[in-house]
Amino acid sequence: MDISRLRQKLNGLFDEMSDLRQSFMERNPMLNGGVYKNKTKCGNPNCKCMREGKLHIAWRYYYTENGKTKIKTLKKKDILKYQKLTERYIKFREARARFVKYHKEVLEILNSIEADLIEKGKKEL
Ligand SMILES: [Zn+2]
Repeated sequence: MDISRLRQKLNGLFDEMSDLRQSFMERNPMLNGGVYKNKTKCGNPNCKCMREGKLHIAWRYYYTENGKTKIKTLKKKDILKYQKLTERYIKFREARARFVKYHKEVLEILNSIEADLIEKGKKEL
């Protein structure tokens, strides 16, 4: 890629990084992990789930603690709270991942620009 194209790309990357700024200004609390639901049997032999196969919906919260994934079953009243808290976390982590990616791309472009300018410098000797 020629150097002016690289400069254009560099400007674009700075713009995109700047757009991420708001994501990192999050002040509301968050919770690492996520929430999902699945269908399950309760184990009671007299229940519909065991007799008729009508499964219960269970909401779970998964998170990592000391490198291990843990799962907690949520009470109905807590589902929304966990969803809100983990959504903020997921957004934050996505923005962070994009930032890391842009950062790498910026460094690669800077290396190319640096190399190009040094080559030009040598020609002036
Ligand atoms: Zn059941």
